[in-house]
Amino acid sequence: MDLFKVDFNAEYNHVIGLAAEKFGYDEDLQEVLKKALPAMLEGHSHEEKQLFYKMMSHTPIVVVDEDSPVNKKELERKYFGNINSHIIEGAHEESIYDQLEGDGSFNSEIEFDENANVVARKQYLYIKRANPEKHRNGYIKDRIDLFKTGINVSHLMHELGHAWCSEANPLEYEDGVLKERCGACTTEFTITPNGDGTYTRTRTGVTGLYVEEAFNTEMELEALSKYLNMGREATDALFKTGPLIKSNYQGAVSGVANHILTTPLGKDFQNYRLTGDKKYLDKINGAIEKTEAHQRRMDSSNESRGKDQVFLEPASDSIAEFLTRCKNVYYPDKENMTPFEILDNALNQSFDLGINKLKFDVFDDKSFGQYKALSYSALSDAYVPINQARDLILGKDSKSKEEQK
Ligand SMILES: [Zn+2]
Repeated sequence: MDLFKVDFNAEYNHVIGLAAEKFGYDEDLQEVLKKALPAMLEGHSHEEKQLFYKMMSHTPIVVVDEDSPVNKKELERKYFGNINSHIIEGAHEESIYDQLEGDGSFNSEIEFDENANVVARKQYLYIKRANPEKHRNGYIKDRIDLFKTGINVSHLMHELGHAWCSEANPLEYEDGVLKERCGACTTEFTITPNGDGTYTRTRTGVTGLYVEEAFNTEMELEALSKYLNMGREATDALFKTGPLIKSNYQGAVSGVANHILTTPLGKDFQNYRLTGDKKYLDKINGAIEKTEAHQRRMDSSNESRGKDQVFLEPASDSIAEFLTRCKNVYYPDKENMTPFEILDNALNQSFDLGINKLKFDVFDDKSFGQYKALSYSALSDAYVPINQARDLILGKDSKSKEEQK
């Protein structure tokens, strides 16, 4: 036992008690939170904990019974209120990510006044709860037994992670351009007056989404391991052998975050997610810009396809056509992208490749080889610059030092 370890449980329970009273949480959710908070917050600084507490005080957690459909419109009416009737949504391109319907999510909305100034930012998160009465066997029963509740605890901690990392400085708004930050992800909108008292809000870009999901998933897995009081390997195995089901970020995408956290840049990524302070982003970009891998990439920019994120539509064609499309679609304009954006693009590729793979029942050897080559090249685009930046920061002999350990 560590005699010098301060017991924060009274503090956590106080925060949970306040939120429970304000939002009417039942016993089940309160019990989960009493274990989730220590699991998520252990080892974090006082300031980081304060951000979490603040988030808890104004983010209702809505538990939806597994049989009730999630009516997002209704939830929005309830938690955002009757706002923004003068804001019209402009059209934007939908990604695979946009089309995914999860069993839980963190949602926020900005309230605008009649001149399109920001009045407030409102938010809530929802999560589904399985009914123990209905599951006498099968993996959901096993999951209920594991968590001792129908609430999917892992997923809840994931959404709490996004909410926590959106708490500090979430908005930037200048000259009709609004940037909304959720952890490492920034979504950009233009707000333009239509001349009749209405405004059109158009989503014009998303960056850092896959970096955010990678780090948030890695954080979720670490927290889960503490929640269950199991080692990390045993926790990861729950997704391989059951009863937990892997999310689309687990594996290749979250593995990159897991690796980055072992390098000196890990802390900068974490700090950037939690604070939104651009100095951490500058540090990350500055370190990677010095690498030979980054320089080489800048020099070989023969394909130029614009800075915007590119998306692969879910595949309906043959694997061969799909692979050709993959090759054509992921060559962003690297000269105009920061190393952070290039990393995000590499994770985006890895994510889309992973999702599309499931759509093909049969891979012939040649296609599988091509598919593997694409996945490999996406991941090496993520790993190689990070590893070189690490070696530069630690000094050239870092490799041999590691080997001596
Ligand atoms: Zn997420």
